[in-house]
Amino acid sequence: SSAAPGPVERLTPDDLFIAVKTTGRYHRQRLELLLDTWISRNRPQTYVFTDGEDEELRKRMGTHLINTNCSAAHNRQALSCKMSLEYDTFISSGKKWFCHVDDDNYLNSGSLLKLLSQYSHAQDVYIGRPSLERPIEATERLGATEMVRFWFATGGAGFCLSHGLTLKMKPWASDGTFMATAEHIRLPDDCTVGYIVEALLGVSLIRSPLFHSHLENLGLVSDVRNQVTLSYSTVDNSRNTVNVKGPFSIHEDPTRFRSVHCLLHPDTPWCPRLL
Ligand code: UDP
Ligand code: MN
Repeated sequence: SSAAPGPVERLTPDDLFIAVKTTGRYHRQRLELLLDTWISRNRPQTYVFTDGEDEELRKRMGTHLINTNCSAAHNRQALSCKMSLEYDTFISSGKKWFCHVDDDNYLNSGSLLKLLSQYSHAQDVYIGRPSLERPIEATERLGATEMVRFWFATGGAGFCLSHGLTLKMKPWASDGTFMATAEHIRLPDDCTVGYIVEALLGVSLIRSPLFHSHLENLGLVSDVRNQVTLSYSTVDNSRNTVNVKGPFSIHEDPTRFRSVHCLLHPDTPWCPRLL
């Protein structure tokens, strides 16, 4: 047919469940920037999953700060423990879409709603950016010689799952089984999501160029205002950030997230105003 592609489903912010993964030592260093910027516009639907209590942050976020009691170590078990709780909390929320981001992601929820409204939350949808040029290969722990190949969306660029798909994932993801699944293939949390969706359920990842991690050259991202996620890396000598002109200097805004936020939401009180 010649019908132009249009929204399949009318979505509102209330249909989203946004999970942000963080850790104690990044509360000041990374999370506050997100709270000042995109989270401030998405409070009701955003939940932060961390590994330690923080009085200051608790005051700012209330019940939207979830202390997982997962270990603060950066290992497979600790990270899959957090993803497991993100999944369980989403299931109890009854929302239409589960979206995961890291604490070095900027999320443009307007672009996200526009993207997701092209799909039905009742169908099987797994959408994000693959981090590799070819599918990952994993050996299942007890499968001896069994090799499985699948694509996964890199967690560092953010990804979303529809409600319909998350229900089908239950046997391998709910109530702590996610951690066992991650152990089974001995891969990180984001790969484990890909394994469940692609290898076990036979559902293909939908590739979207609108999700971005710092694994790519962010300086090459054009049309910054319409992307779904952005990221940054500011490790001393190798800065990797998006290019946006103003209103803050690189010194004032090394990640460029404040400048992006003012570009998208110029009415924000701390954004310089052109009178
Ligand atoms: N992270 C975590 N526990 C850790 C280290 C990192 O939960 O011990 C989280 C961190 O807050 C971020 C994500 O894992 O949301 C990815 O961490 P990072 O950006 O430092 O590493 P990358 O994998 O992107 O190089
Ligand atoms: Mn990162």
